[in-house]
Amino acid sequence: MADSSLPSSPPVRPPHRIHMHAADNVAIVANDGGLKAGAAFADGLVLVDNVPQGHKVSLTDLAEGDAVVRYNVVIGYALKAIPRGSWVHERLLQMPAARELEGLPIATVKPPVQPPLEGYTFEGYRNLDGSVGTRNILAITQTVQCVAGVVDFAVQRIKAELLPKYPNVDDVVGLSHSYGCGVAIDAPDAIIPIRTLRNISLNPNFGGEVMVISLGCEKLQPERLLPPGSIPLVDERNVADIGETANAKLDVVCLQDDAHVGFMSMIDSIMRQAEEHLERLNARRRETVPASELVVGVQCGGSDAFSGVTANPAVGFCTDLLVRAGATVMFSEVTEVRDGIDQLTSRATTPEVADAMIREMAWYDAYLDRGRVDRSANTTPGNKKGGLSNIVEKAMGSIVKSGSAPISGVVPPGEKARQKGLLYAATPASDFICGTLQLAAGMNLHVFTTGRGTPYGLAEVPVIKVATRSDLARRWHDLMDVNAGRIADGDASIEDVGWEMFRLMLDVASGRKKTWAEQWKLHNALVLFNPAPVT
Ligand code: CA
Repeated sequence: MADSSLPSSPPVRPPHRIHMHAADNVAIVANDGGLKAGAAFADGLVLVDNVPQGHKVSLTDLAEGDAVVRYNVVIGYALKAIPRGSWVHERLLQMPAARELEGLPIATVKPPVQPPLEGYTFEGYRNLDGSVGTRNILAITQTVQCVAGVVDFAVQRIKAELLPKYPNVDDVVGLSHSYGCGVAIDAPDAIIPIRTLRNISLNPNFGGEVMVISLGCEKLQPERLLPPGSIPLVDERNVADIGETANAKLDVVCLQDDAHVGFMSMIDSIMRQAEEHLERLNARRRETVPASELVVGVQCGGSDAFSGVTANPAVGFCTDLLVRAGATVMFSEVTEVRDGIDQLTSRATTPEVADAMIREMAWYDAYLDRGRVDRSANTTPGNKKGGLSNIVEKAMGSIVKSGSAPISGVVPPGEKARQKGLLYAATPASDFICGTLQLAAGMNLHVFTTGRGTPYGLAEVPVIKVATRSDLARRWHDLMDVNAGRIADGDASIEDVGWEMFRLMLDVASGRKKTWAEQWKLHNALVLFNPAPVT
């Protein structure tokens, strides 16, 4: 996908810094390659240190113990005196303690009601359960990792021999994972990986066509993965089955079945079953649906100090547009919003929504505590290299993806989103686990912002990748779909890039455009969140 907005060579700019809030006493250096000591800004501020791009410079003389403020939030306390013009990095900062989960503001902020955004549509695949797919994919559900190699083999044959006969089907995807056996399946938290797998197999992009490959002896039996009644009806044949044995509807190929003599008979069984589903999927056609049918999962990965300045605020603006259009938007990443919990509980539409957020945060605090870490385990060497000193600063930049709309619901990990509007889907911040859980929640479009750069992609849903810096967008011109770095360059506003994303989403959802990750078929593995023990 060519993006004419990408500059071809780095523009040379005078010293330029970005200040997020009037109360902030640090700003970040915006220039590609950073700035050297002695560089003077137009207002007379002179750098006393070399400051890399995206890193902070002090705007005032800070004494030991002074609060360092960015996004109008204390991101740390100075461990020693920091003169004006100095590089403020993580080794100079004491991180503040996490906000207690008691005494939070509950549903106190009533964001002004924004006018509905009407008339925007896309071409999608309407499902019988009311959901809408953006792609038409045959997904092959697996109860256990043991069958993954066999399914891979079958998928290659299906793609080569069957798919050409069904041109309306976009792809065939084996939903392989590491769960299913050798796990404490009755542990209370085992419900998370199990319902994740169940709900992924029902993702709107798979058209309600569920086929399951089972080994036979595994702990996660097909009926436990997909109990009677969990699969929506796909045609009259299934309607007739209702009231009889609902289990009969579950299409399972069991490799240990006595009928299988030799590997090829397993492959033949899988291909025979796949063809039935391919026929039905192939009969589907896109139809015009309102933009309210989008279920967008937003996340960031490989973040830098620009994430919270360019890409994430543009995503936040786009989130507001989507909510105004009646769509569903999920933001996630527990450890990246934990330090902004007061901003979230105050934006909840009801006390119940705020309570659900607090419950998810408390559960996650306890989960981290069990592993003897806390939310500060989140930041990576790349985050720090990119200028993010600690999780508080990272979180303030991450949370802006949620825009300004009221938060109308909470989706526990592995659950399906059951309402529209802005939802908090409680997931780990790990890119792959967050994406996997958002897929389970019913996401039909994914937006991913990155500053350091990641080639992230999913086979199950289109992923629109947004670069936070023009330098990254230029170097990774055939991996990044949107360049939000133009905001820092002064060439576009947050609103411009937000609208560009909104329109691109409708094009990608309609299949009119492919994302770079789709074009190159860059697909990361599904990674389940399993907080329960293995055996
Ligand atoms: Ca992430």
